Amino acid sequence: MHTELKQYTVAELCEGFVYNELEEKGLYGLSGKLTIQPEYQRNYLYAEDNGRKEVAVVESVLKQYPLGLLYFNRLPDGRLEVLDGQQRITSLGRFLTDKFSVMSNELPFRFHALPKDKQMLIENTSLLVYECEGTESEIKQWFQTINIAGIPLNPQEELNAVYSGPFVTLARSVFSNSRNANVQKWSAYVRGAVKRQDFLHTALDWVSHGQVEEYMQAHRRDTQIDELQAQFEDVIAWVESLFTDHYNEMCGQPWGRYYDNYHHQPYDHKAMTAQAATLMDDPCVKNRKGVFEYLLGGATDTRLLDVRVFDEATKRRVYRRQTEEARHAGVSNCPLCAMGHEAHRTKIYKESEMEADHVAAWSRGGQTTEDNCQMLCRTHNRAKGNR
Ligand SMILES: [Zn+2]
Repeated sequence: MHTELKQYTVAELCEGFVYNELEEKGLYGLSGKLTIQPEYQRNYLYAEDNGRKEVAVVESVLKQYPLGLLYFNRLPDGRLEVLDGQQRITSLGRFLTDKFSVMSNELPFRFHALPKDKQMLIENTSLLVYECEGTESEIKQWFQTINIAGIPLNPQEELNAVYSGPFVTLARSVFSNSRNANVQKWSAYVRGAVKRQDFLHTALDWVSHGQVEEYMQAHRRDTQIDELQAQFEDVIAWVESLFTDHYNEMCGQPWGRYYDNYHHQPYDHKAMTAQAATLMDDPCVKNRKGVFEYLLGGATDTRLLDVRVFDEATKRRVYRRQTEEARHAGVSNCPLCAMGHEAHRTKIYKESEMEADHVAAWSRGGQTTEDNCQMLCRTHNRAKGNR
């Protein structure tokens, strides 16, 4: 890789700067020669948190603090792309185009309202830039290294960098765009931040059935994202059609996997909605997040719900009472053995040989309370299962 150290003033870097509100990114600088946010770069994040970071960038310049090195990638045609420094340059460009204010003598000032000497100070500040030329893989590998400083790339942002191209650009315009009116609705089911690519990652995960990287590689040169959008919308529509009520626990569920496993099955959406409401209210259900998968799977796998079990004190009290009564009647302290005809009819089990069972099955509304608890010998308890 070839590198060269250069110097540009803030005015030069921000010449021709345009901030695109819709895509939430700075586009060009150096009179169009510099692409500030190449398609594999992340969204502009410094405006978050009431612009704390973008204000800090401008204040640093006013105090003549060093802003650190910038890194540009020089393309074969001589044009430049920002590899590192996108957030800083966008902050400066946004300030020079009066997009936000900084405090001076306890008053907010936009750039063009600042005294001329301060405007000049900012415009004439020099920034150091490393311009690099190399192969695509060299540049990308190095980009991943230098980005350890600042806000680290998360795994999806890295994938966007590695598989940059028309597909990623289009996909980001839908799934990484916080101005997309659907985001609010999607947040009921998808956890994370739009700008940090969590929605894009989820959409890719659903369409690829968990093979995100392979999918991005295969579709890298696609000029449409129809399949990605259709699958995402199908999954959301399917969930909405099954569960009428909304619960916070719905957010962040692996709905794509549920869809793959269950969308060919018919469901009665009224019954599903009612059952979900009952389980969500049931104090024995310790894992409310498991309710949806439990219902989709036919309400059989109670492990998903982590149903509250009988505590040791309850088991001991029930064991003592049952054993005392059994001795008195001359039968086994396992009520099922006592009804049998075999050798175990009068067997008295030790407490360690018995297990607690719901008399009325939990799945049929039996509660985890002492009056619904019976101790069974291990063989009978396991044979009974969870009917
Ligand atoms: Zn038994």
